[in-house]
Amino acid sequence: MMEADPRYYVDGVRAGNRKILAKTITLIESSRPEHQALTARVLDDLLPFTGNALRLGITGVPGVGKSTFIESLGMYLVEKGHRLAILAVDPSSASSHGSIMGDKTRMEKLAAHAVAFIRPSPSGGTLGGVSRKTRESMLACEAAGYDVILVETVGVGQSEVSVASMVDFFLLLTLAGAGDELQGIKRGILELADAIVVNKADGDNLGKAVQTSKMYADVMHLFPRTTPDWAPVVLTCSALETTGISEVWETVWTHHERLVSSGALDAKRKKQALDWMWALIEEGLKDWFYQRPEVKKLLPEMIRTVEKGITTPPAAVKTLLQLNKNELFS
Ligand code: GDP
Repeated sequence: MMEADPRYYVDGVRAGNRKILAKTITLIESSRPEHQALTARVLDDLLPFTGNALRLGITGVPGVGKSTFIESLGMYLVEKGHRLAILAVDPSSASSHGSIMGDKTRMEKLAAHAVAFIRPSPSGGTLGGVSRKTRESMLACEAAGYDVILVETVGVGQSEVSVASMVDFFLLLTLAGAGDELQGIKRGILELADAIVVNKADGDNLGKAVQTSKMYADVMHLFPRTTPDWAPVVLTCSALETTGISEVWETVWTHHERLVSSGALDAKRKKQALDWMWALIEEGLKDWFYQRPEVKKLLPEMIRTVEKGITTPPAAVKTLLQLNKNELFS
């Protein structure tokens, strides 16, 4: 049973009550219309208290060491006095095969920590749906006083693009490997990365990891910059042995300070908010269009006439859009 009073969520979240924060996120993740209406009211009230966290996105293929890395970085941050929230975007959890991120117990030490809040990826739905929920959950965590938000994703579909568009700093975790391995990484991801961190730089693998990091450093300047005053940084670390973790954080922090003082962070977030709005408009228009009974009725016929060459696609589309004209302009 969900509480129906928005104040319950707003006051609880503002007081830093973890149980109510978790309930608020459950509300955000619900697709029931009455829950969505309540979510909108709660988020409106929370909005003035958001925006104060450092938002860090982390991506990497399964097995690269994301959980281990987040646990090590997370412990380092809580020891430094930060309050940390960890969210995930994994649209694969919608499929019957379960989450790519796995059901294994992840981040045990952090989970036991009072100042860390961990929320797995919302299940079910499209990437758009999952990332909307994660964005909104991020706002709730900020209003609850978490000052570092980690958003984790695996490279499924466009999930990295989606996460990069909701964070201040986007970190690609990768492994040592030869040139062909580099080609295996989606080119677009390198363009989004503010830092590339070669993990598992330990034991026999150390030399290879350092070599790989040099290779990345060589190719990174070929990509356009995500932020005008920031050149992507390449680092190595061992999440397991917790070496190189403080250097990663120093990089993230330097980037943050630079963007805050130049005003670029503000500009970046404004742009992200507007991009999100446009995406929602497009999604909303599409949903609205396909759900019209008249469209549902006429669409199969239009498909047939276009297939048979009786109607041109523009003419068919014009007819379908005209169906909604009265509604559109009323
Ligand atoms: P994820 O799937 O990306 O979340 O990866 P995990 O964090 O579950 O790690 C996958 C495997 O790599 C586990 O067996 C980890 O113990 C191991 N691993 C993670 N980080 C390191 C590291 O820095 N060095 C070494 N040698 N192994 C690591």
